[in-house]
Amino acid sequence: MSKNYIVGFPRIGEQRELKRVLEEFWAKKCSFDDVLKVALELKKRHWEYQRDAGIEFISSNDFSLYDNMLDTSIMLGAIPKRFKELKDEELYFAMARGNASSVAMEMTKWFNTNYHYIVPELSLEDNYSLNASKIIEEYKEAKALGIKTKINIIGPITYLGLSKRVDRGDVYELWSKIIPVYEELLKAISTLDDEITIQIDEPIFVKELETKVLSLIKPTYDRLGKVASNIKIALVTYFEHSNEATKILVHTPIWALGLDFLHGDENLNSLDIIASSGKKLLAGVVDGRNIWRCDIAKTITLLEHIAKVVKKENILISSSCSLLHSPFTLKYEEKMSHDIKEWLSFALEKLDEISLISKIFFDAESSLDEAQKEALQNNANANQSRKNSPLIHDKTVQERVKKHTKLQREGDAKERLKLQREILGYGDLVTTTIGSFPQTSELRCARSDFKAAHISKESYEKEMKKYIDECVAFQEECGLEILVHGEPERNDMVEYFGEQLKGYGFSQNGWVQSYGSRCVKPPFIYGDISRPKPMTVDWITYAQSSTSNIMKGMLTGPVTILNWSFVRDDMPRGEVSKQIAVALSDEIDDLQKAGIKIIQVDEAAFKEGYPLRSAKIKAYEAWATRDFKIAVSSAKKETQIHTHMCYSEFNDIINTIEDMDADVISIETARSGNELLKIFKKVGYTKEVGPGVYDIHSPRIPSVEEIVKQIELLLEVLPKEQLWINPDCGLKTRKWEEVKPSLKNMVEAVKIVRTKLQS
Ligand code: GLN
Ligand code: ZN
Repeated sequence: MSKNYIVGFPRIGEQRELKRVLEEFWAKKCSFDDVLKVALELKKRHWEYQRDAGIEFISSNDFSLYDNMLDTSIMLGAIPKRFKELKDEELYFAMARGNASSVAMEMTKWFNTNYHYIVPELSLEDNYSLNASKIIEEYKEAKALGIKTKINIIGPITYLGLSKRVDRGDVYELWSKIIPVYEELLKAISTLDDEITIQIDEPIFVKELETKVLSLIKPTYDRLGKVASNIKIALVTYFEHSNEATKILVHTPIWALGLDFLHGDENLNSLDIIASSGKKLLAGVVDGRNIWRCDIAKTITLLEHIAKVVKKENILISSSCSLLHSPFTLKYEEKMSHDIKEWLSFALEKLDEISLISKIFFDAESSLDEAQKEALQNNANANQSRKNSPLIHDKTVQERVKKHTKLQREGDAKERLKLQREILGYGDLVTTTIGSFPQTSELRCARSDFKAAHISKESYEKEMKKYIDECVAFQEECGLEILVHGEPERNDMVEYFGEQLKGYGFSQNGWVQSYGSRCVKPPFIYGDISRPKPMTVDWITYAQSSTSNIMKGMLTGPVTILNWSFVRDDMPRGEVSKQIAVALSDEIDDLQKAGIKIIQVDEAAFKEGYPLRSAKIKAYEAWATRDFKIAVSSAKKETQIHTHMCYSEFNDIINTIEDMDADVISIETARSGNELLKIFKKVGYTKEVGPGVYDIHSPRIPSVEEIVKQIELLLEVLPKEQLWINPDCGLKTRKWEEVKPSLKNMVEAVKIVRTKLQS
């Protein structure tokens, strides 16, 4: 008896086949039938991988051509009015990506992952009706291969909770309209087979829910549990504990409950009530969203602990969440060092881990065959080597970080800013940009040619310097005041630093779906972090030497570097981030010694790292701010520290932002007029702020008048002495044809406002 369970599987394909065919289809280079053909091949292959690994519960409907939330909207007939004329794939992709006449639906992050879903748009006047064809087809496709799947669907409470009401009401008001469609869906599914398992994902249960929402749980699952006697409902949660919901769910007719014991170990507190309810427990014990090889011995210990409360026969071994959030397989990694590769496990390798764990747990170690015994031994060896490897453990770094006692800069911001203004000599409404300028195909080619050793270091540097020269020349001509070098040498704001820090690893093929066909390949932190040599100083000093204006140095902050990487799991995140912070503080010191007077430390992903549970927020904020401050602690009073954050909602975190103590912060408020800036005034924020004056996420060129108006709006909230004028984010995704006139208009607008203010 071995009972194991996979919450969901990646669908993009081990060679990103789905991405390729989708993008060809969008570029009109192939037909939709070609897309369906690739999709079917992928589904089959993925089912077979799972079956061959010995997985018992394999999903259908975890596949999607774009996103499962979007699929759920289609299933419910929740189609926004502007798309109602469309049908089939035209409708589907228009909802996801927009078309000539309608904007796409909004997209946002799936809980605290880097996966983005399409936000449903609901309205009280709409009627919803069932479209179950995708779900039923996929079940049949698997069955034709002899694989009986469980059917994955997103639960109604999560679906509603992540929706928005276009008619501005409460999303849960639509509960009574949606539930009958779910009932109908279950009824349709019940006719497919004698007995059928449906996995209903309700990750929203791991958040703190209002009483009103909690009170919907019982009626929902009482109703869904009653639809058909041959349906077993596995209700699955992940990313945190769901103790409040668990208390209710044990009194509903669900068959099994999935809990994440890795990212929500408080779930252990629910074991008693699960045991007495007699329900099955899908024990999420293999990390679905990280890349480390599971420590099988440790996992067995955890399972034995669980089994002291819940009967063994009621336990199934599960991934902690869908494997969608981890890369596909290690088998194409040819460049990675053998040692490091041994420590990793991607989705395909995780299947084997889960299968082996369930074999050991249910059938005892003595039942393993030779190959399994060897796999277990390899697992033990790899985990042992991680504990001792000098590649990971660096005494010098540990000592250095432990002894780092300088936790913040000298002086208070007021004093510092006065000094800086004297030295830097800038006036009110000073203009700047966020750092990057357009990334051209020549730049990308030069970087990859250099990496592949197709061009020499000299010609690479020449190419980069040429770009910097042009970039500086443009900024001078345009009349911008604080300049940047344009970041031509950076492929990505985290990878660039990761590549130069010791303790960082990279994969060749570790792609993870971010949204639609888009994938990211996060670097990973496996060991103690240090900086063998300066990372940015040469480029920034070169740029400074080519202008008499002030050149702003550009770094990525410790929290963002951490949040956009896979992070080692043998050390608390806050410790890892502290190591990065200490390395960055050296970089800042070097920049400053080289004559750089303004340094921007980007924290684009600071907010992303926020925990899902409010009880854990304080701890996160404490180390995240501490580490930002450690990073900049080497800056002298007269060195001006900027930070940039890629969002606009600061209401919840304004005190933390203040605490970070940056002299200047640039933020993304361009799309909200001055509404979101008001919080800075409300709390009496005294440092300087650069609220974006135009939206760089669109190719549109803002007019002078428009920017004047935007600046005037800002001036209603904050005084001119406190305001910087800049776009709302880096310009690397834009074209020069867009950037040049936009920035010229921005500078022109500032001139007009300054003149107006003088008269
Ligand atoms: N300095 C970076 C840039 O301009 C910041 C990017 C970001 O905030 N995402 O590209
Ligand atoms: Zn940004």
